[in-house]
Amino acid sequence: MTSIRIAIIGAGMAGLKAASTLHNAGMNVCVFEKSRGLGGRLASRRTEFGHFNHGAQYVTARHPGFAAYLEQATAFNAAQSWKPNLHHGGTEIAQSHGNLALDQWYQGAPQMNKLIRPLVEPFSVLKQHRITRIEQLDRRSFALHDDLEGVFGPFDGVIVTAPAPQTAELLRPMSPRFDPIGDVVMAPCWAVMAAFEQPLPTAFDAIIHQSPAISWAARSSQSSDLFHRRCPDPWVLHATPRWSRDHLEEDKDRIIEKMLAALRDISGVKLPELHSVDAHRWRFARTETPLGASHLNGMNGRVIAAGDWCLGARVEAAWRSGQSAAHAMIETLFG
Ligand SMILES: Cc1cc2nc3c(=O)[nH]c(=O)nc-3n(C[C@H](O)[C@H](O)[C@H](O)COP(=O)(O)OP(=O)(O)OC[C@H]3O[C@@H](n4cnc5c(N)ncnc54)[C@H](O)[C@@H]3O)c2cc1C
Repeated sequence: MTSIRIAIIGAGMAGLKAASTLHNAGMNVCVFEKSRGLGGRLASRRTEFGHFNHGAQYVTARHPGFAAYLEQATAFNAAQSWKPNLHHGGTEIAQSHGNLALDQWYQGAPQMNKLIRPLVEPFSVLKQHRITRIEQLDRRSFALHDDLEGVFGPFDGVIVTAPAPQTAELLRPMSPRFDPIGDVVMAPCWAVMAAFEQPLPTAFDAIIHQSPAISWAARSSQSSDLFHRRCPDPWVLHATPRWSRDHLEEDKDRIIEKMLAALRDISGVKLPELHSVDAHRWRFARTETPLGASHLNGMNGRVIAAGDWCLGARVEAAWRSGQSAAHAMIETLFG
């Protein structure tokens, strides 16, 4: 182990991939995460009858490195393949979800946020620490400030993996090299988590759609056996980016009402009584315009921005960006 200390901001797939790569290279790594849990948008909410995966729904691998990661996660019981009975619309919709026929879909096991488990090494992770400022102490070292007036450091390098607008807030005041983050566009997404008293009487477990409101609805449990469905029956609904933008500041109850009405319309079935329902607003859900490079660095290569938004809108993009940010940091320090 070297005496080099690196801070990582964000414990989603990008941050944890960067942290684990640097830890394995012998560095002292400390991860700062503003939430109570790990995984970021690989998100699961626990309820009395199971979990809702209300962020990313499934992952696919096109890059051999990420395919190997999914194999490792499966061997670790942190991932499982998912083959829902899928109903979808026209070609345009199918294309936006990749090659539906050929892609193998995976989910975290037993729930989505567990997909990061193989990356959680014995490095420190400080949860509920929202970093508000990165201070440059001298040419080679930095301190982090959190929202509770805590100060941490010194660190020899910092990798920021928050969604683009939040990364821009931290990094653009430090150097104009980070200005291109301002060109990245991320779309919001309203998610509704509805548990029905009785199984929703559809033949499908997931539907891809482009109704004005709903882009995706899926049963948030792995059972696809028509006769052995769980009660309550948990479903996650995602709104389209456009609809989410148009209704961004609307009251949760109104969002729930409108999205359930849209589910009734697209599924063509009478919805059973609700056991419970809630909604979550993702302000920065999916990348619409990526940076177009795997990471961005400044401050002599010692401060690096990374995250899915560098390369795309998928978990795989986050993994690749985190890995590339870690390699760039190693190159700066030892290259
Ligand atoms: C509704 C929805 C559906 C999706 N569906 C899919 C899908 O089906 N398939 C797919 O591949 N991808 C999907 N995605 C995208 C996927 O979830 C992301 O690409 C991926 O999880 C991003 O990982 P990340 O590490 O780059 O960012 P994040 O997961 O956002 O991690 C960033 C972390 O930084 C933390 N953070 C932010 N600011 C600070 C701060 N100041 N201090 C400390 N911590 C901070 C956040 O709390 C968060 O934990 C979906 C996303 C959403 C929201």
